[in-house]
Amino acid sequence: MTLVQVTVVKAEYGLVQCITRVWEVTPICAASGAGDFLDGGQHEEDRDLLRRLREQAALPITDDRPLEQQPWYHAHVERGDIGDLLLGEGAERMGVGDGSFLVRSSHSGTGHVLSVREKGEIRHLLLHRTPFGMYRWQPEMEFESLPALLSHYIGHPTPTLHLTTPYTKDMARAARAGRSDPWEIGVHSLDLREHLGGGQFGAVRRAKWRQSTEVAVKIFHNDSVREEELWREVQNMRRLRHPNLVKLYGVVSRTRPFMIVMEFMQQGPLSTYLATNQLESVQNVGVLVGVCGGMAYLAEQRVVHRDLAARNVLLGRDLAVKIADFGLSRLLKDDIYEHTTPNLLPYRWLSVEVLERGMFSTKSDVWAFGVLAWEVFSRASNPYQELRTRQEVYEFVKGGGRLSRPSSCPLEAWQQLVVPCWYHQPYLRPDFPNLLDYLRQWQEAEERPRSARAMGRISFFNRSFESTK
Ligand code: ATP
Repeated sequence: MTLVQVTVVKAEYGLVQCITRVWEVTPICAASGAGDFLDGGQHEEDRDLLRRLREQAALPITDDRPLEQQPWYHAHVERGDIGDLLLGEGAERMGVGDGSFLVRSSHSGTGHVLSVREKGEIRHLLLHRTPFGMYRWQPEMEFESLPALLSHYIGHPTPTLHLTTPYTKDMARAARAGRSDPWEIGVHSLDLREHLGGGQFGAVRRAKWRQSTEVAVKIFHNDSVREEELWREVQNMRRLRHPNLVKLYGVVSRTRPFMIVMEFMQQGPLSTYLATNQLESVQNVGVLVGVCGGMAYLAEQRVVHRDLAARNVLLGRDLAVKIADFGLSRLLKDDIYEHTTPNLLPYRWLSVEVLERGMFSTKSDVWAFGVLAWEVFSRASNPYQELRTRQEVYEFVKGGGRLSRPSSCPLEAWQQLVVPCWYHQPYLRPDFPNLLDYLRQWQEAEERPRSARAMGRISFFNRSFESTK
């Protein structure tokens, strides 16, 4: 047995500054030497020593960095993602075990949640803020700061809560990078070419991937979005596959900047194309069929797009139509998702209930589809051109005002297809499959020889309707 003084400096956790103890250790631990930082990785004995040190780590907290800079604070990490981090493959190799924890903001945005690994499961504990600015989990114990609260439960395990080690943002990054990910693309396999455009998150460039495939690469500013948001966007795009959605090839996530590699759409945004080309009537309908097909699929997958507009629809060769930009989409938990920052959103495409209460749903996407149809027939004019502010648009649509029919849109299609998308009550609006049925019949009618084309009346929502068939 050897006596050794071990100093573990854990300043990077933001919780414990320094622990110095004299321990009786086995020869393997002794080989680490006094003053070594033990990361809990190499030997069972080291891990055991570290665990014992951590159990003694009831130390005062002096770290007053802002919450966002605390290594154990993960802001908006998704609940499902927490399971992957604290319980996933490789977590134990990183020293994650019972009592490992992280702090995040609650999904309702009203406070903080402490997520703790316990007996192979994750517990989520809501941390309350008192009117005097104190933090507490249980009513009888209040703390001046979150670090103080965490340190208390590290140092004073109770039968109901025992925290051991913080799960840091670096660990999360390493875990994500370590996943064997068939979607990961090496930055060196991309030959970046010209700039195609830019949005609020970064720039888009054309590129050659593995010297053969033409792709578009969305390159994010390093500080433009939180990593979790990027992951969310990628997860959404990954599992969604449909001929009318832009295809994702992969991501560059192990190096910075973060990039999303997707199929290249030669003709660019529909809005630009409409403004510079005169489409024939059959082409207009074809575009709407494509968009509606993609939207019907998204709705079936319980995904709300939230930002459907001609600028977010891309065109490929032969006017192939694909919906892009799922950055704002969120998986529907219930049928409606409450968005908290509607100011960021393009208000001319928003339904009355989104403008009023931020309530997004598939039916608010249907509203946006109506505006997109209007864009198609008006060659990408700006909706409600004469209204300047969000408030003016809101008051106009709330008072029953709607866009007027562009002359190239047949009256019947306007009344049966477009206007119903803007019914005040979301449940009265058609669903995407209804719209798609209508559009396909219209398309068939358009494709018939001109002599037989008299469009006749097309059914909608199983209402009165005489087909030309
Ligand atoms: P934001 O991201 O702020 O909503 P945005 O949708 O205009 O704005 P991006 O999605 O970053 O921004 O796209 C910017 C531009 O890059 C598009 O307008 C389009 O011209 C071009 N672009 C994007 N994706 C592709 C693609 N897959 N193929 C071809 N061009 C693309």
